[in-house]
Amino acid sequence: MKFLLGVLLAAGLSTLAPSARSQLVPGSVDMHWDEGADDCAAKPHPPIQVHAYNERTYILRENLCATFEAPFMYLLVGSGRALLIDTGDVADPARMPLAQTVMGLLPGEGASKMPLIVVHTHGHLDHRAGDPQFERLPGVTVVPADLGHVRSYFHFTDWPNGLARIDLGGRTVDVLPVPGHYPSHIAFYDRNTGLFFSGDFSCPAAC
Ligand SMILES: [Zn+2]
Repeated sequence: MKFLLGVLLAAGLSTLAPSARSQLVPGSVDMHWDEGADDCAAKPHPPIQVHAYNERTYILRENLCATFEAPFMYLLVGSGRALLIDTGDVADPARMPLAQTVMGLLPGEGASKMPLIVVHTHGHLDHRAGDPQFERLPGVTVVPADLGHVRSYFHFTDWPNGLARIDLGGRTVDVLPVPGHYPSHIAFYDRNTGLFFSGDFSCPAAC
């Protein structure tokens, strides 16, 4: 549901000039997500699923048998850095190998592994519980989801006004304040694909 909202909003890009639309890098939305099981103990499921939207854009989802929230996460890869949006609902790497999965998708090996920035749409726990898996990894920056850190990292001097920008190298992502559902909620627009990552901003505060 949350992801579909993002896709639908991206579809609203039809207001762009044809020349702008034609420059967007396409991807596959032919996704088939694992539905979990009535008896997860009897029928184990992989904890995390990865869909390659294209070769530089990944959609990840935690399995319903691992967490009823089954949250989505998004990995955008530029030429110099990568961006992970949200870290899901499970902290324990033994139950949810999120960091291992994400780092395995990034170009490079060892010390030459592509640097990663970890951000969040907002601070509800099902969007940030996986943070500890990334916090001590070399080359990884985790931006905490509270308002102070969000304002500081993205240089929002007149919150919630303004627009920030993340340069991943040949790929620009706009950062938009959208408080309401959560005080420090932000949304992301990827100029490369035209995808808009909304998080929960259109939901009531409790959703
Ligand atoms: Zn939320």
